[in-house]
Amino acid sequence: TVAPSADLRNSSSPLQRFVKGKRKINDIFVEIEDYVLDSSNYVSALRKENKVIVDEGDVKLVTDYVQKIKGIRDVLARDHMKVAFFGRTSNGKSSVINAMLRDKILPSGIGHTTNCFLQVEGSENGESYLMTEGCQDKQNVKSVGQLAHALCKEKLNENQLVRIFWPRDKCFLLRDDVVFVDSPGIDVSPNLDEWIDKHCLDADVFVLVANAESTLMVTEKNFFHKVSTKLSKPNIFILNNRWDASASEMDFQDQVRAQHLERAADFLVKELKVCSPKEANERIFFVSAKEVLQARLNEEKGMPPHSGALAEGFPNRYFEFQDFEKKFEECISKSAIKTKFEQHSQRGKSVSQDIRDVMESIYEKALATQKDKSFVKKDLNDKLNFTEQQLLLITQEMKEKIHHMVEDVEQRVSKALSE
Ligand code: GDP
Repeated sequence: TVAPSADLRNSSSPLQRFVKGKRKINDIFVEIEDYVLDSSNYVSALRKENKVIVDEGDVKLVTDYVQKIKGIRDVLARDHMKVAFFGRTSNGKSSVINAMLRDKILPSGIGHTTNCFLQVEGSENGESYLMTEGCQDKQNVKSVGQLAHALCKEKLNENQLVRIFWPRDKCFLLRDDVVFVDSPGIDVSPNLDEWIDKHCLDADVFVLVANAESTLMVTEKNFFHKVSTKLSKPNIFILNNRWDASASEMDFQDQVRAQHLERAADFLVKELKVCSPKEANERIFFVSAKEVLQARLNEEKGMPPHSGALAEGFPNRYFEFQDFEKKFEECISKSAIKTKFEQHSQRGKSVSQDIRDVMESIYEKALATQKDKSFVKKDLNDKLNFTEQQLLLITQEMKEKIHHMVEDVEQRVSKALSE
């Protein structure tokens, strides 16, 4: 058989590294939030007792972190891996997305030109619905037909985003936090700058769906030139789709493939300078989304992947699609871990470091006041000394707690990142 089962792929999927990393970093932030709350309560209470050793700035710094950590946790919960698809109308963008999702989710074909941005993401509760920009209403969607109808009914502008929520348990890519974005065709006179600012700046991977029956178009190239002025080294895959059409021209197939490969590699390596020639070989694929989707729908029903008449060379094209998916998963997971978690972990480290500094300065001041007091008459001072001794102990304890926490967090963050 050509296709390993979805479950098998899932268990070894690089996407799991992102999912596990997200869980870990979230657990660490739950602890940081706990400590920050503790520290904030402690510092505020101390300030009421002793205005000398705790100043207003310390209290503000620590208490402000309570909200900041909450903010980071909110962002973390929303973090996902985002892949955006571009290409001319009818090159097969929707078909590629459907093939990857193993279901006919997006409408495709004549009459179903995507005229706005469509985002497919997992829904939490097993429901399927869509939401249009600026509107909180969930519109129920049960089928592709209904979805197509709902999209036609709306007066959507080319820039708008429609979010389609699909049950997570229906596809492991959605379950593992991958979000798909389908764009209107690059040929529909777009406002590229607006597109990029609105929909592309947070994309981890771009997929250019090209038509293997023609060469890369200037419009397609221009778009990525623009993207690469705004993002440093975007991750771009080029799918030469409709490769099944070349099957009827066996004599020229190798020649055509070599020519497409060379041009696409030149585009990535020499024009955009986003990868090396070696990397380019892992970014360019010759596939047939239509065949893969059909094969997967068949497999879903327990049928063999190809039934009926198929163009020659189907197993190779199917294999190449799976190879693309493998490289894509590695790339998107790596990129998302780097861009999303590295920032969070730096932030976590600096928060715990700042709190540690506050605790240390409180401790030093408490120590200094105690020394000053030793010159004052002993009997007057006994009570005060006792309280301050207690204070020192608690501060010391708190300082150690924070110290351990910082070390623990640092260790776990580096471990999570290196994993
Ligand atoms: P989009 O406008 O880029 O989203 O393109 P669609 O996915 O809607 O595809 C346009 C038409 O091309 C549909 O009728 C698809 O069935 C067909 N199509 C998509 N991929 C392939 C392919 O690999 N081979 C062939 N022969 N047809 C395809």
